[in-house]
Amino acid sequence: MPDWKGDALEQAIISQAPQVEKLIATTAHERMPWYHSSLTREEAERKLYSGAQTDGKFLLRPRKEQGTYALSMIYGKTVYHYLISQDKAGKYCIPEGTKFDTLWQLVEYLKLKADGLIYCLKEVCPNSASTAGAAAPTLPAHPSTFTQPQRRVDTLNSDGYTPEPARLASPDKPRPMPMDTSVYESPYSDPEELKDKKLFLKRENLLVADIELGCGNFGSVRQGVYRMRKKQIDVAIKVLKHSTEKADKDEMMREAQIMHQLDNPYIVRLIGVCKAEALMLVMEMAGGGPLHKFLLGKKEEVPVSNVAELLHQVSMGMKYLEEKNFVHRDLAARNVLLVNRHYAKISDFGLSKALGADDSYYTARSAGKWPLKWYAPECINFRKFSSRSDVWSYGVTMWEAFSYGQKPYKKMKGPEVLDFIKQGKRMECPPECPPEMYALMSDCWIYKWEDRPDFLTVEQRMRSYYYSLASKAEGPSQCGQGVEAASV
Ligand code: ADP
Ligand code: MG
Repeated sequence: MPDWKGDALEQAIISQAPQVEKLIATTAHERMPWYHSSLTREEAERKLYSGAQTDGKFLLRPRKEQGTYALSMIYGKTVYHYLISQDKAGKYCIPEGTKFDTLWQLVEYLKLKADGLIYCLKEVCPNSASTAGAAAPTLPAHPSTFTQPQRRVDTLNSDGYTPEPARLASPDKPRPMPMDTSVYESPYSDPEELKDKKLFLKRENLLVADIELGCGNFGSVRQGVYRMRKKQIDVAIKVLKHSTEKADKDEMMREAQIMHQLDNPYIVRLIGVCKAEALMLVMEMAGGGPLHKFLLGKKEEVPVSNVAELLHQVSMGMKYLEEKNFVHRDLAARNVLLVNRHYAKISDFGLSKALGADDSYYTARSAGKWPLKWYAPECINFRKFSSRSDVWSYGVTMWEAFSYGQKPYKKMKGPEVLDFIKQGKRMECPPECPPEMYALMSDCWIYKWEDRPDFLTVEQRMRSYYYSLASKAEGPSQCGQGVEAASV
């Protein structure tokens, strides 16, 4: 595990607690002194016969046949080998014995009760890692050349494209968690890399590939690679279209200045700005595409717990923005990008503002090209933007996610929505949306901003709902693992 500072660790624990718990329980044996990860039957016998041949001395080793293990124990100067297999539900047992969720629990039980063995497990026959200490970590070599990025496939749903991480989930491996990816921590969290951190990047360290990730009014977003001191990282590059308009450049620089001040696992980080053939905003890569596109048509495939997990991450990113006194002003499913199907980041800070130290809202001088369907009444009526108006947008984003990518207020035009809201009407609960989540989105749409919850509260409510789903889930597939192996 990397050497995390308090905040990063806290975020990891909050967002990934249910998975971490499961992971710790199901892989705990790997760290036990009695577990020998590569040992043949003969080697096991040699180990158990050497030294004191105490009754009940034991070790556990995986067998060639996937998912099965052997428990080797010495008793009366003879080594016995017992097969441990998994039943259909993934529970472990020796034939006819009591079943357990994890190997570690099974071993603990067999220490207390022989349960079909010739003797109880007593003394541990330790593996070499626990006697010789851990191996030294290996450092990546400095790259002398760029590695060209692979052509990306559109989104996560097409042909199993999973940009991050390379380690794919399979039924017998735990699924990837945000903290396992390269974009959980800032690339500058390494002090060596931090020495080079500047807003403006050198063009020679940037490779812009001819692969378009998306586009907008400003121009296009391209895939690329940025070379740092010790590593090269995948990046997304917002390239300003050829424009002599100073206003466009200023706008992009304002977006960069905002992003430059933010550092959170659930927010797309800015790597820097490059002024060369065009003005380019270089960001960390979230190559899974926008949330609404990923969810569209996936009711069967993506469980509600997966949607709640991603929305909880968005609430964590928004709680961070609220604490830092920034308003996003364009929170919507289209601006939530996926790193993989269990990891979302907030993006697009084109409309964002830093509030003054004593201000709780920003007043826009004039109305612009605004995403009215995502805006709270006070934004439209008084041009007032606060974290509470972001909460309103978060409610609309929740609605988009739980309706699996539908467009909000479908048939209505922007200005009609305001009338609809003034009349006290709200969008209905999407068919798949759990009542607890509809209750939360309804609170996000409380008319008076003072009465709406803040992101501190929203995050807590998202968290407890998501944890409740994760703890209800039985078996590894309920948390998304089984589905994931099939589709991503
Ligand atoms: P706009 O202001 O035009 O909405 P965005 O910042 O939302 O611009 O980017 C437009 C599109 O570019 C996104 O929908 C996404 O497909 C792609 N994109 C933007 N940032 C990234 C990123 N960091 N990683 C991967 N793709 C990105
Ligand atoms: Mg956008």
